[in-house]
Order: sequence, then C-alpha cells, then structure tokens
Amino acid sequence: MTAQIIDGKTIAQQVRAEWKVRADALKARGVTPGLAAVIVGNDPASKVYVANKVKACAELGMYSKHIELGSDISEAELLAEIAALNSDPKIHGILVQLPLPKHLDAHKVIEAINPDKDVDGFHEKNVGALVTGETPFPSCTPYGVMVLLEKTGIAIEGKHAVIVGRSNIVGKPMALLLLHKNATVTICTSKTVDLAKHTRDADILVAAVGKANFITGKMVKPGAVVIDVGINRNAEGKLVGDVDFASVKEVAGYITPVPGGVGPMTITMLMANTVRAAERLSGFSK
Ligand code: NDP
Repeated sequence: MTAQIIDGKTIAQQVRAEWKVRADALKARGVTPGLAAVIVGNDPASKVYVANKVKACAELGMYSKHIELGSDISEAELLAEIAALNSDPKIHGILVQLPLPKHLDAHKVIEAINPDKDVDGFHEKNVGALVTGETPFPSCTPYGVMVLLEKTGIAIEGKHAVIVGRSNIVGKPMALLLLHKNATVTICTSKTVDLAKHTRDADILVAAVGKANFITGKMVKPGAVVIDVGINRNAEGKLVGDVDFASVKEVAGYITPVPGGVGPMTITMLMANTVRAAERLSGFSK
C-alpha cells in the first residue's frame, strides 16, 4: 500500500481563504484583526517563526505588530509590554514566542496575557476551557491537525487515536481535541513500555516527539492515518519529521509530509484564532 499524502500546504491555503472572508467581514464593519508577536532574544528559529506569522497576517490583510526585545529584558519590563498590548484596541491577539530566556518565568508571562487575546491558547483559563468543553482558542498545532483530518474527510468517532508525546502545546491538547470528537485516546510518553504495541494499534497516529524519523513502518498498522507534527534536522541538515516517511508511507493509509503537512496549518490556525478573537472582542460573536 502507498499512503495518500495529506497536502497541508493546499489545505492551509483553502482554510486561510475561508478565514479571510471572516476577516474581510470584520474590516467592513471597521475592525481590522490585529496580532502582536513578541519575541525575546536572538534565537534564529524563533525569529523565522515570528517573521512567518507576521507575513501570514499581511496576506490576510490583518494588522500585525512585531515586538523584538533584548534577551536581557527584565520580567517587569516584559510584563509591562504585555499590559500595554492587553489595553491596545488595535491588538486582538497576543503571542509570546517560546522558549523565553531562563531568567523569565514563562508561566507568569503567559498568565499576564488577557485570556481573550490569548490566541496561542496557552493561558490557564483557555486550557481549562479545553478540558471541560470548548475553548475559543485551541492551541494552533493540534487545532491544525483537527482541521487537516476534517478537510481530508477522515472520520474520528470511535477510532483509536494514539498520540506519542504529552507536551502542553501539542500532545495534551491534541488528546483532548480528539477525545471531544469521540476518539478513544491513548497518550504515549518516553516512559511508555513497548511503544510499538500501542502505535500498531492506532487508527490515527500522531507523532509529536521531536526525534527525527522515530516512527518507522513496523510501528504502524496497515491503513492507519499518520500525522507527523515533528520538525527536526537530520544529519545532513535536511528538515524531517518524527515519522520515517519512506517506510511509513508503504504501510499507512494517509500520511502528512514534513515539510508541507502540519507546519502550514499551525500558522493558519493562529490567523483563525486572531480573527475569532477580534470577532469576540468587538462583540460580533461569542
Ligand atoms: P516536547 O519536547 O515538549 O515533547 C516531546 C514529547 O515526546 C514528550 O512528552 C516526551 O515524553 C515524548 N518522548 C520523547 N522521547 C520519547 C520516546 N522515546 N518514546 C515516547 N515518547 C517520547 O516537544 P513538543 O511537543 O513541543 O514538540 C514535538 C515536536 O513537534 C518537535 O519536533 C517540535 O519541533 C514539533 N513542533 C511542530 C510544530 C508545528 O507547527 N509543526 C509546533 C510545535 C512543535 P516525556 O514527557 O516522558 O519526556
């Protein structure tokens, strides 16, 4: 079997066009959705991510503010920047690019963001809403995976979804979103015994491990849907996922490539969350 490729680039373009209609509708009512991206320090990967987010805002005709702060900024100064963005009426979404330098308490910084502008969905209020039901701001990568599954026409209800990884930004929210859609969910971690036994039982397998080519064809059930969240560089410096694409594509029914799978969806869902934040803050939706 050769798996069907889930083309994240094409789906992301389609989803962006759908959200542009909503952004344009807001603009027609005098509200331009605005995103502020705060970056602290000089991490080159973080700089690329933030530049891409700002570019995507421009594509949707949204307002964006890119705030670069020195790595020696104090916590009080950073909190003051966030307070200013919280009260800026042109800003509907605030993201603070992680990781932060060690002297800054990331939890405190995230909790300082107005939860109604927390478009990354990391504030405890929004995480709690996800646990108990529905959050207005699902965290962008797992939200993107859900949209990829939906747009590809993959049914979730009753399926066994296995997620490898339990981070707060990918694994845990992914599990909750799949659970809300009535999947039976297993979460695997570095402490899981006989990982392959679990992954081979998955109808939907999500890899969010951070290890290049970690999931191999032998770990996958024939016909399974395999979603690769990982972004890694291999020994040759090439961008690869957590899934060994060459062996898994011969076994799986569907597979996302890296690059061009989950990655483009993450930014798209950030745009979606920002438009939704603008709709809610301006009273045009709940
Ligand atoms: P973390 O490092 O925070 O989490 C990795 C998880 O993998 C942990 O829960 C860890 O378990 C688990 N793990 C590590 N080794 C094993 C193992 N041998 N067997 C089973 N589980 C294991 O990573 P993130 O969740 O932040 O990111 C995961 C990957 O996704 C990275 O490659 C990252 O770059 C990428 N990413 C991609 C995004 C995108 O837009 N496409 C967005 C965000 C991340 P334990 O908890 O026990 O340590």
